[in-house]
Amino acid sequence: MPEAQARETHHILEPRPSPARLSLVIPMYNEEVVVDFLRAELENFMRGVSAEMEVILVNDGSSDGTIEKIAGWATEDRRIKVLQLSRNFGHQIASTAGLDYATGDAVVLIDADLQDPLPVVHQMIERYREGYDVVYGQREARQGESAFKRLGAWAFYRVMRLMVYKDLPLDTGDFRLISRECLEGLKRMRETHRFLRGMVAWVGYPQFAVKYQRASRVAGETKYPLRRMLALAWTAATSFSTVPLKLSIILGLITGIVGIEEGCRALWEFSFGRVVPGWTSLMVVTSVVGSALLISVGILGQYVGRIYEQSKERPLYLVSRTFNVGVPPITAPMTQLTALAEIEQNS
Ligand code: UDP
Ligand code: MG
Repeated sequence: MPEAQARETHHILEPRPSPARLSLVIPMYNEEVVVDFLRAELENFMRGVSAEMEVILVNDGSSDGTIEKIAGWATEDRRIKVLQLSRNFGHQIASTAGLDYATGDAVVLIDADLQDPLPVVHQMIERYREGYDVVYGQREARQGESAFKRLGAWAFYRVMRLMVYKDLPLDTGDFRLISRECLEGLKRMRETHRFLRGMVAWVGYPQFAVKYQRASRVAGETKYPLRRMLALAWTAATSFSTVPLKLSIILGLITGIVGIEEGCRALWEFSFGRVVPGWTSLMVVTSVVGSALLISVGILGQYVGRIYEQSKERPLYLVSRTFNVGVPPITAPMTQLTALAEIEQNS
């Protein structure tokens, strides 16, 4: 087979076999109502893959019955591994925990709510075989999400591209397949404030976009209301770029120009002896300059705060309990194994 040239990142691709072991990493926060749907879909999916499977469910400190449900599932199926985080650390950190524990040759990061369809993973594996190290899902449509959320997401990706990384793929969430090599690179980035898709873009390697239709949530509610989306955008902006700092310089320049203009005007008025009625302009300039200064100091403060948090070198997350971790994954589906056990017992 001739070596193909990767379209997007100009690497020479090296075809490789299907991953012998495939890991799925699924962060979960209050997803109790989703578990049954997820289980049905996953079992169906796993029947169709030839690779040895491992599913890492990361319970991100849920306050509902998620852990009971997934722990019960893990006792019935050894391919299901559960990480119980000591509290809620947020989606990005929970995903990181799952990626750290994954042992597959290829790892797929996917949400629990089945918004990212599992069959797309087959297409991702195809690309992996062609030699791509990162295959990310790019959304073509979003169903069942409010116009407000869609607009928010649209603006999010465009602003991120401007601020974070001009190569950051548009309309791409965390749903992606990552090769072992690329994952090892990613694992070396232990920054406290994490924006995984930006970090994966930073790691590089041949990357490919698979287009897909984003379904609506199978059950439950989004854990990313506007407030959290804005917080993620701010983390992305401040942990990836110094653009906000540059913005404060631009703000300073603009107010500087206004100040110079007002200064010239004051001198001009002075030359005609009309000095008293300057109070309004003085107030305007003082308030504009004052606010510009405060904004700049505030932005600077955000960066200093982040340096402070990073400098503490705390662990990113704590795992309080695991299920099935360390148990060697097995290829045969559970039904076959049960059948085998029965045969053994009877013989
Ligand atoms: N999630 C998590 N920790 C959190 C918030 C969310 O592990 O603090 C998980 C959640 O359970 C889901 C995924 O992250 O599997 C994406 O969240 P959600 O579907 O609510 O986001 P949306 O798709 O609406 O952007
Ligand atoms: Mg979702």
